[in-house]
Amino acid sequence: MSIEPSASIISSSRPERILLAREVAESVLAKRVISRLPGVPVELVDDHQDPLRAKVGNSGLETRSRDFSAGKKDLLLCRYKGDWLRACPGTNSHVCCNLWTVNPGEGCPLDCTYCYLQSYLKRNPTLKLYTNTDEMLGAIEQKVKAEPSRFFRVGTGEVIDSLVWDDLTDSTLELVPFFARQSNALLELKTKTANIGNLVDLGSRYSNNTVVSWSVNAKPVNFEDESATASFDERLLAMAEVQEAGYRIGLHFDPLIYFSGWEDGYQDAVREIFEVVDPDNVAWVSVSTLRYKPEMQEVMETRFPESKIPYGEQFLAKDGKMRYVQPLRLKMIKFVWHQLKQVSNTLPSYMCMESPAAWRAVSGGAPVAGEELREVFTRKGRLNIIQPQGSEL
Ligand code: SF4
Repeated sequence: MSIEPSASIISSSRPERILLAREVAESVLAKRVISRLPGVPVELVDDHQDPLRAKVGNSGLETRSRDFSAGKKDLLLCRYKGDWLRACPGTNSHVCCNLWTVNPGEGCPLDCTYCYLQSYLKRNPTLKLYTNTDEMLGAIEQKVKAEPSRFFRVGTGEVIDSLVWDDLTDSTLELVPFFARQSNALLELKTKTANIGNLVDLGSRYSNNTVVSWSVNAKPVNFEDESATASFDERLLAMAEVQEAGYRIGLHFDPLIYFSGWEDGYQDAVREIFEVVDPDNVAWVSVSTLRYKPEMQEVMETRFPESKIPYGEQFLAKDGKMRYVQPLRLKMIKFVWHQLKQVSNTLPSYMCMESPAAWRAVSGGAPVAGEELREVFTRKGRLNIIQPQGSEL
């Protein structure tokens, strides 16, 4: 099959091969993506399932690691056939920030050492983009209209970077105006890229219900463990442009990573960000430390032998994830929290996947979900009450 390219926009992380599910070959999105990846071979496939799925099911560490890397080279264009809108899978022991998630695709062509997709997508590692975005928007509209008294904060960055393919898909050209029309829903685009051209072009006409969020880290972490992402400075430039275009900014200091000189690194990061970003234009800031499933330890060691991340002071926490030992974890969160509060005491900051007890230890009492966090800790227009008793760190 040959489809001639008609545009010259090329993603910075282009796949080596496109797998095109036969049933979506004529879809607008599939044609657009293919046309913007000139020279990338296109192979028609009959199935919408991940081609690596059967192969990696019960395979050993080496094969799993190799296949996860291999999955980043192919891009499968197919239909999504599951439920589009889902409540973020928090846990009972953590304070949940009530995010709803919708995934326009799966997998990420970037390659951060600590990326949890290495375990989460271990059986489905091939990159995917779903072409039935009209059904996605329909499902969101149906849900938010059915519950007009509930507030929906919807993120597209759970299993894919929200903007990494946007120059290929133009998906934000649909999503952002769609959310601008909703009275009880807000879109969060979460990224480590600087792929903001469409957002800037849309500008302030539609920016009212979209928050553009960046995952940010100290420069040494960005340099050593966030391969192929935009550099810290590139993200700052992108933040400045998006802010100028009328969007509110979200920030995720997540995961905080321990390294020699981490205090200076994170202090510098906070200072440099707020030299660019207006604190009054920040929708929310989340803070959390490194965490991952134990099975990911060996995958990280195999895929990133140079990284120091797997060799930190992690232990198996009660939620079944590897986390830094508690004193270090709280020390790091408190430090960054304090830096943020020095910028502005009303900066809407919250901890992601942390216990009520951690909230009390870091922020001095529970709940600290004030009015400025209404968009984060609300589902029905009322703030969640964070239970203050009997929770462990
Ligand atoms: S940008 Fe996010 S999704 Fe992509 S590899 Fe890094 S951590 Fe994973």
